[in-house]
Amino acid sequence: MVNVDEKLEPILNDVLRRNAGEHEFHQAVREVLESVGRVIAKRPHYARNALIERICEPERQIIFRVPWIDDHGQVQINRGFRVQFNSALGPYKGGIRFHPSVNVGIIKFLGFEQTFKNALTGLPIGGAKGGSDFNPRGRSETEIMRFCQSFMTELHRHIGEYVDVPAGDIGVGGREIGYMFGQYKRLTNRYEAGVLTGKALFHGGSRARKEATGYGAAYFVRRMMQIKGLDLEGRKVVVSGSGNVAIYTMEKFIEFGAKVIACSDSNGFVYDENGLDLDLIKEIKEVRRERISTYVLRKGGSARYKEAGSIWTVPCDVAMPSATQNELTGKDAKMLIENGVLAVGEGANMPSTPDAVRLFQEAGVLFAPGKAANAGGVATSALEMQQNASRDSWTFEKTENRLAGIMDNIHDLCAATADEYGAPGDYVLGANIAGFVRVAEAMDALGVT
Ligand code: NDP
Repeated sequence: MVNVDEKLEPILNDVLRRNAGEHEFHQAVREVLESVGRVIAKRPHYARNALIERICEPERQIIFRVPWIDDHGQVQINRGFRVQFNSALGPYKGGIRFHPSVNVGIIKFLGFEQTFKNALTGLPIGGAKGGSDFNPRGRSETEIMRFCQSFMTELHRHIGEYVDVPAGDIGVGGREIGYMFGQYKRLTNRYEAGVLTGKALFHGGSRARKEATGYGAAYFVRRMMQIKGLDLEGRKVVVSGSGNVAIYTMEKFIEFGAKVIACSDSNGFVYDENGLDLDLIKEIKEVRRERISTYVLRKGGSARYKEAGSIWTVPCDVAMPSATQNELTGKDAKMLIENGVLAVGEGANMPSTPDAVRLFQEAGVLFAPGKAANAGGVATSALEMQQNASRDSWTFEKTENRLAGIMDNIHDLCAATADEYGAPGDYVLGANIAGFVRVAEAMDALGVT
């Protein structure tokens, strides 16, 4: 197992001490620092001017009250967050998550990861993340709207086209972005389309943004496999989650000729040896907003639903964890390896625990870390910003071609960096170092800020 270089240990200890109890943030920082030791050995000037310490400290953290009135006239209070992590490469950029598990440590880990991910895209965007512990599950349309409006009533003073550009994440899709954009427009009296991405087309949204994270992850994994001479025709794919990332990961793998046999939500998973019916999944999740369990009731045949147990017990060639952090444990990794998995691609952010990552790498499984594999979403958000700035609207084909090119570049950059640092095939190391170097160079040139 890799350890943090002894020169970097005091920095890690400081992060642990100053951010007590923020386990996901600790995990994300540790993973990056484990890779960065090799960079410092080659480029010692990065250790000057407390550059690494500064990279680990968010530029700004905003925590605010979000009061709103539910359908029964009761006042509800939630907590809102925006962590503006790093703006060395461009305006802060990163999604907003609405989920009851949200706390400052989770938003900080996501903002930290986002900084390196955004750097990997090669586009001019800094890193941020935001969200709330609001639980949208079971809330009516009007409650969701009132919550989004109240959230934006505070957030609007901290964001802007040249300042910070949020997007969606868990619990925040096109509908929520629309409500937040409406409130921003009203409060500022400006039609500033570039302030949010993931908008509807008629508000200046980009074609292929909805599909981008999932498509991008599938492109990345396909390239990673192609280099090893593996194709996707007829391969069995398991995707966890059934939200935005999962659905469009499934769509692209099906287009590539693979067979998607299982997906899930937080209650359980569905599987069908003969392949899942994606149109039905879209109807259940995107239109009806129902639980995935209803798939089996509607589909019948060989489809099965399991409420208990892990989706990773389903034997497959390709596993795509696309739900949430730390959802794939060491035990799951062992099971996948025993069942002969060839490649794992992280659609979600940090979905594999550190011991799961280690097991995959030791077993020679091709492993694509989230900060590289799921960067297609934010890359296409940056393309949406480009279209907004030039008052342009590209075709789906043009946007998807740009996305595919960006994913190939990210793949090749990670692979080349891993080679350069003596760890061929280690995409975790490659992504961490390549992302870190871009951010470090940009920060260094700005002086101590
Ligand atoms: P969605 O809200 O659209 O979907 C999330 C899916 O994951 C749902 O099926 C949800 O099930 C499931 N899920 C969420 N939390 C848990 C949990 N604690 N346990 C089990 N299942 C859970 O979110 P996205 O698809 O947008 O995001 C999924 C992941 O991808 C996240 O890690 C996100 O940070 C990452 N990501 C998203 C990007 C984007 O463009 N949207 C870009 C890059 C990364 P249920 O409905 O039951 O809660």
